Amino acid sequence: MPKKDYYSLLGVAQNSTKEEIKKKYRELAHKYHPDKGGDEARFKEINEAYQVLSDDQKRAQYDQFGQVFSDGGGSASGGEWPGGFRFDFGDGRPFDFAQGDFDFSNIFEDFFGGNFGGGTRARTRERKGRDLRIDLDISFEESVLGGKRGVEIEKLSRCSRCSGSGGEPGAKLKNCPTCQGKGNVQKNQRTFLGSFTQVTICPECAGSGKKPEIVCIHCKGRGVEQKIEQLEVFIPKGIRDGEVLKITGKGEASLTGGTPGDLYIRLRVAPHKIFRRQGDDLIMQLPLRLSQAILGGAISVDTLDGSIQLKIPEGTQAGDILKVRGKGSYLASGYGRGDLFIEIKVEIPKKPVKQIKEIAEKLKEEGF
Ligand SMILES: [Zn+2]
Ligand SMILES: [Zn+2]
Repeated sequence: MPKKDYYSLLGVAQNSTKEEIKKKYRELAHKYHPDKGGDEARFKEINEAYQVLSDDQKRAQYDQFGQVFSDGGGSASGGEWPGGFRFDFGDGRPFDFAQGDFDFSNIFEDFFGGNFGGGTRARTRERKGRDLRIDLDISFEESVLGGKRGVEIEKLSRCSRCSGSGGEPGAKLKNCPTCQGKGNVQKNQRTFLGSFTQVTICPECAGSGKKPEIVCIHCKGRGVEQKIEQLEVFIPKGIRDGEVLKITGKGEASLTGGTPGDLYIRLRVAPHKIFRRQGDDLIMQLPLRLSQAILGGAISVDTLDGSIQLKIPEGTQAGDILKVRGKGSYLASGYGRGDLFIEIKVEIPKKPVKQIKEIAEKLKEEGF
């Protein structure tokens, strides 16, 4: 499914400044405004494009994934990995392992060419590259607050010399000698049902019907090469351990000139020394001195995003839980946050010094 190209919708270059985008948007919005007799569908598209490209974060996501995931919906269960896929950055379809690796329609057509008996309808369907799956270890902070990660992946990529054409740059194309330019080959097959013509994609030219006159010296005409690719992976805010990111088109290159496969990244979140996650909330323990628990007061507490002043009420008990609103994890949507719950511990001196014992004696006399 071709994705919408927001840049070309607005008629701007990918490196345009915000100002240039805004200017172009105003021009087009004026031109296509339905109230002025413009094309309403076009107007909507232009607005959608502008919503994304005018927002730095959405634009960065779009540049990476070709789509903006603002709702985090579209949950689908993954067969191989627990947790399922909450994010689908690709074409919006939930991922389905039953078909993910295996395109049955392709196989069927390979066997039968979609064509029993007479006729030799050409079939030039291109096959997609292989999907890749990797694990990525991220810190607890990254899972809560989001972030960016550089990742290196070794994979089959388009040949850098011929850009996948398999021919030397500038080489002319000639008709494929195997299929004489038809892109498919056929053979008659006899079965107990009678004989039929089997049409298959030409193995020599992968269905294009053309071959370069001079084969690329780098990839020997395969159009692909094994390469290490650097990727910047955007980690959405509020992601959980085991969740999987899908990056459309970042899998392996197709051997037959089709679209590349997809990349699935399973995130593994390291545990934190202080914080624990429960849903969208964070939980931590806070040790107080005995005097702090009795007298109360303000103390400084380190949260994942900086220190805060926490008000300890007078007479705070061990086991009391204080709630700090909005300092939990980001919600999966990236907007809004859970809360931070602070469980109070009270430290009783393990080896009380003389002075402490004297105070305790006094308390005892007072009946505490
Ligand atoms: Zn090449
Ligand atoms: Zn051929």
